[in-house]
Amino acid sequence: MDPWYDTHVHLDRFPATARERLLERARAAGVLVVAVATDLESSAAVVELAAGSPLVAGGAVGVHPRQARGAVRELTDLAANPGVVAIGECGFDGSGPGWELQAETFLAQASIARNLGLALVLHIDGDGAWDQLATRGDALEGLRVVRHYFTGDSVQAAWHAERGHFASFGNPLRRTSQLQEITARYPPELLLIETDSYPAPGRITQPADVVKVAEALAGVRGWSVPETRERLANNTRIAFGLPG
Ligand SMILES: [Zn+2]
Repeated sequence: MDPWYDTHVHLDRFPATARERLLERARAAGVLVVAVATDLESSAAVVELAAGSPLVAGGAVGVHPRQARGAVRELTDLAANPGVVAIGECGFDGSGPGWELQAETFLAQASIARNLGLALVLHIDGDGAWDQLATRGDALEGLRVVRHYFTGDSVQAAWHAERGHFASFGNPLRRTSQLQEITARYPPELLLIETDSYPAPGRITQPADVVKVAEALAGVRGWSVPETRERLANNTRIAFGLPG
């Protein structure tokens, strides 16, 4: 049987014992994860995790827009490691530093993804972030793009769908009718799911919970759970260039 894939997990940010427990629960639930970085230090940790655990299907190395810092040349070396399947998360964030610095960091990462043939994991959140992306659509042309934790509107969804971008949905899909309407119409071969798990006070989400998101998606699309599992596994492998 295909695994479930949680396409966005900040595995490196959990203390080692919590990480082991969380991966054990993921294993029991049949879930593999894509480990995603937020800065250079976290990228180095993701490289190790991607090489070290059979439950980590791949790693994304990158610099989050809130940590934007310019050209990030070091990423090219980190991205060349085995197990690295994507650049990110990167993009624009309304609570990050100035747009110009965010744009420089984002464009640098898009070009690394292009040069290395890797997917790009896109973070768009907060006031003004969407407008920043929308004026730079050209930078994404021809890339495999994953819009992570999609909570945008139907205009954004249409923009991504037209460009063949994957849209990854998390827990909000379970309770937001607008997102349910978007997933009902989004191209089925471009749908992904994730938990965006990271340690934070009061946040108990973990990769095993991605199955609940899958069940919500199954309901919205009218697919059986096994069909959903097979479709999403296939989509994930194509999005991140995973074997199988
Ligand atoms: Zn994230």
